[in-house]
Amino acid sequence: MRGVIMYGPGDVRVEDRPDPEIALPTDAIIRLAATCICGSDLWPYRGVDRVDGAPMGHEYVGVVTEIGSAVEKVAVGDFVVGSFFTSDNTCEICRSGYQSHCVHRTPIGREGTQAEYARIPNADGTLVATPGQPGADLIPSLLAASDVLGTGWFAAVAAEAGPGKTVVVVGDGAVGLCGVLAAKQLGAERIIAMSRHADRQALARRFGATDIFEERGREGVARVKELTGGLGAHSVIEAVGTQDAMDQAIRSTRPGGHVGFVGVSHDVTVDGQRLFGSGVHLHGGPAPVRRFLPDLIDLIWERRIDPGAVFDLTLPLEQAADGYRAMDERRATKVLLTV
Ligand SMILES: [Zn+2]
Repeated sequence: MRGVIMYGPGDVRVEDRPDPEIALPTDAIIRLAATCICGSDLWPYRGVDRVDGAPMGHEYVGVVTEIGSAVEKVAVGDFVVGSFFTSDNTCEICRSGYQSHCVHRTPIGREGTQAEYARIPNADGTLVATPGQPGADLIPSLLAASDVLGTGWFAAVAAEAGPGKTVVVVGDGAVGLCGVLAAKQLGAERIIAMSRHADRQALARRFGATDIFEERGREGVARVKELTGGLGAHSVIEAVGTQDAMDQAIRSTRPGGHVGFVGVSHDVTVDGQRLFGSGVHLHGGPAPVRRFLPDLIDLIWERRIDPGAVFDLTLPLEQAADGYRAMDERRATKVLLTV
């Protein structure tokens, strides 16, 4: 099969890779219908994280082509969506809704879903079948559910976005934009998207943002305070993973408020004394997307949400290197690769 390998910073190639095989009775093999490039794939691409000949990709939708002898909940021919950690969905951590911390989790990034086929361990507890074969128009949104929508949704839940709440979203990448969408669906009253890019501002509005602030850092915090009677927001989503974004998120939150942080943390430190003084709740980490998948698939299937709009560039898998370049140069927010 064909699949993406990253050999080093800026060096992405599409090559022949061995076809994945069932290794454990709990595995399934899927044929990808579509896959995509994640903002987190840019960390190794930019040389921030080390990489040396790794298969890439952890977002996926597709059709089951083979199942191991112990797989019962998905069948060959099912169209399925899964997330970036596999989970048994039966352990105590999974049953509490934290499948991304499952005691039997495995990272899908190791399998590399920017490819024609992928092995999915823990298939029963990881894959969720759609009600039928989706039309082509639904595939981008189902793919978004695999990571960016599920992650943005978790951030909004962790930030306790809901009716009567003012929600601030720090980060206007695909996850931040999906956080806006989630906050809207959860009934938030006011949703402030922090963004300086006209196209992302437009999508934030379409997803439900009521206000757009272009200020950053202390000025951004000051605008939030101004809008909230000096108190700060009830709920803040941090969808970047840098020190500046985390500082801005904590400072924008009112005492007793909640920060949901889902940007993959890179050299972020939280000052203990400032945290102590802030009185805010911090909750985040790798999103338990599996918790939300059934509901997200329903919303997409009923065409009540359209998170696939975050994909602003579609390329064939063979042109993955062009997709990485476009995201690195910020010419694209999120690149869908057709398989
Ligand atoms: Zn588990």
